[in-house]
This record gives sequence, structure tokens and C-alpha cells, in this order.
Amino acid sequence: MKTQHPNSSAWSSTASKRDAADTLKNFRDEFSFPMHDGRDVTYFCGNSLGLQPKRTQEYVIQELEDWRTFGVEGHFKARNPWYSYHRWFAEPLARIVGALPHEVVAMNSLTSNLHLAMVSFYRPTPERNKIIISGYEFPSDRYAVESQIRVHGFDPADALIEIQPAEGTSTLTTEQICDVIKEHGSSVALVMLSGVHFYTGQRFEIQQITACAKSVGASMGLDLAHAIGNVELELHDWGIDFAVWCSYKYLNAGPGAVGGLFIHEAYADRPDLPRFAGWWGNDEALRFTLQHNFVPTYGADGWQLSNAPVMNMVALRASLEIFQQAGFALLCKKREELSIFLHDVVSDVIADYPWARIISPSDPKQRGAQVSVAFDTHGRAIFDALIARGFVVDWRAPYVIRIAPVPLYNRFADIVELGNALTTIMQEFA
Ligand SMILES: *Cc1c(COP(=O)(O)O)cnc(C)c1O
Repeated sequence: MKTQHPNSSAWSSTASKRDAADTLKNFRDEFSFPMHDGRDVTYFCGNSLGLQPKRTQEYVIQELEDWRTFGVEGHFKARNPWYSYHRWFAEPLARIVGALPHEVVAMNSLTSNLHLAMVSFYRPTPERNKIIISGYEFPSDRYAVESQIRVHGFDPADALIEIQPAEGTSTLTTEQICDVIKEHGSSVALVMLSGVHFYTGQRFEIQQITACAKSVGASMGLDLAHAIGNVELELHDWGIDFAVWCSYKYLNAGPGAVGGLFIHEAYADRPDLPRFAGWWGNDEALRFTLQHNFVPTYGADGWQLSNAPVMNMVALRASLEIFQQAGFALLCKKREELSIFLHDVVSDVIADYPWARIISPSDPKQRGAQVSVAFDTHGRAIFDALIARGFVVDWRAPYVIRIAPVPLYNRFADIVELGNALTTIMQEFA
């Protein structure tokens, strides 16, 4: 016998009140949803690939038209001239990450930017060469960090410190992270953390952790893949040295979209800082000269290598316009409400099943949008059943379903639908 969850009608009345009062609800119409059985899916995968803004297609077509019309002259004559195309992004990105406009630039991809930033900020010596990262870090970050250690002739077995969750827990405490930083003290060259952990959804207390890193003289780098467009950041005020991100998760800029880089103002005018150079990072006045003297542009722009991939960046532009219209502070407020509601509903559903538990922090301040649920058994089958019913969540081996409601396009009612479906599905495994 399949029954509704006893709290289902309470969920529904909460959701209908919240949705009715939601001042951001019309932004949902800005996005296209994949279809399942003739209706829009219920999408909870904005942490993996954000949905497509409807205006993106029009913006891409505009650049195709301008290229067709102007050819090379489009660099200056296109409606959005390509020569200075990357500059438009500085303001909106700075607002989202808490930076000054000349501290950020949209370029390359996350992993390539991580390497470029480490060339400047990981300068190991025999005495100070360790990099501290969190355990269960995203594979690409780990490969990048390991390979940088090797490039400098050090051994990751000594120089790479991974902080693992304590026995019986899935997340790290700030105290634990700071203890590890202090334990390794003056041998730490770099602390490299995610703003929000991709697997558990844990939002780290970056300000406190940065202060710990600085107290031992280490640099502080951030991977914002799951943080940008999701949670409030104050990169400038926190004194972060560098940060990198991708734009296809909460920033909705499409598969493989252009990434980004933050370099703190303290290094804006540091031509002496080692870096891998390219012509787009060179002082504009000298860019086309054949004198071959590299003078880095002031700020993060000075880390650019190549001219802007306009056809790719146009989708980020479409998306950032929507962020500007909605206002990031309001989006963050709704994100927290959605995340709390999701946590409550999922907690209700799994309460009777000892083999299922939420591994994301229960304190909403310690997570972003995402709630991760671990299943000791039946996880994959439950995931498959959700997909078959039109709920797009994601499966992370060995046993986690990640669920992420996004304030730009998710409704509270979506969470009720998920709660009802999960109730039905889990009863099959009781
Ligand atoms: C998504 C993600 C990446 C992706 O890296 P790309 O270079 O964009 O392919 C890297 N690190 C983390 C933590 C991520 O979540």
C-alpha cells in the first residue's frame, strides 16, 4: 500500500504560501526546461549544469549576424565590439563574488585558471612547499594541485595534505581545518579550498579559514565552482589571494562555458610576480607592437592569455543580465529558504529509514542550495526511479544523491513534488 507522507499537506500549504509571496517567481519564465512525458521536468541539477536562459539563443544569433555582416571589423563595429568584449563582465562578476571590477576576469576554464593562478601563487621552497586541500576533493582540482607539486620537483606524498572528515562524519569543521593549518605551520605554501564542497554541499567558513592560512604565512586560493552564483562571497574583504570558477553550474552559461579568475588587488600592479603570459594580458597600448616587451595589464586582466571566445562568452552575458535584474542579495535569501525547506522535507521523508541520511550540514548557514543524501543501500535504484518520474537530480558514486534547488527557476512546490515522489519510491524498499 502506498500512502502519502503524513506531513505532505503541511508541506503543500507552506509551499503555496511561499510561492505566492515569492517576488522572484517570474524569473522562472526566463528559462527553458527539458521535457519528460510531455511536461517540464522538475529540475534540481543547477549545481551541475544550469538551465538555458531563453534569451541566450537570441544573443548567440546576434554575434553570428555581426560576424557575417562585419567580418574582422566586428572587433570594433559589432553591436558588442569583440575587442573589448571581456570588459563587460567585470562589473557583474565583481558584484557576485564581492570583488572590485579589476580583480576579476572571465577567461579560459576553471582548471586552466587554477593552473595559471598556481604559477603565480604556489612558489614552493624546500622549507615551505605544502598545499592543504579538503578530502574527497573534486578530481580535477586534485590532479591540478598534485601536478603543480611535481612540476616544482616536490613529492605529493609529502607536500599534499588532505583533511579528511572525522570518523562517522562527512564534513569538516573550521576548527579542524585551522588545526591542520597550524600543525603544518610555516611549511604550508598554499591553502586551496572549495567555497562550497561539490559532494557534501558544505559551505566553508572562508573568512576564518583565510585568517588561519594568513597567520602561518600561507597563500589562500579558492575554487568557487559550486559557490559562485550560489552563496554570498566577499573575496576582496576576506583577503583571498586568488579564486577560480566555472560558469555552467549556478551561473547558467552552458556546457563548458568560459570560467573566471579573481586576483586580489594587492597583486594588481605586480609585474614582478611570475606568471604565464599571453598577448591579451599585455598592456593594451603594447599589444600589437612587435617590441615584445610584456607589461602586464593592471589587475586580473593581466593574467589573460588569449582574445575573448565571444561565441562562448555570449551565453554568460545573457545569464549575468538575469542575475543583475533579479539582484543577488534577493536570490541568496530565496536560496536559503529553498534549501531549508528541502532539508526539512527530505528529513521528514527519510526519518523512518536508517539506511538513508543527509550528509550536508544541518545548519543552513553552513551550506549553499544543495542537500546531499547518502544511501547505504538502494541509492542507485531510488535515483533511477526519480529520473523515471521526471525529477532531475544527480547521482554521485558510491552512494549519494545531490539535490539543488535554484532560486532563479525553482519553486517551493517543486520540493513538495519531490518529497511526495521520494515517499512513494522509498516505500517500495521498506
Ligand atoms: C565543476 C567543477 C570543476 C570543473 O572543472 P572544469 O575545468 O570546468 O572542467 C572543477 N572543480 C570543482 C570543485 C568542480 O565542482
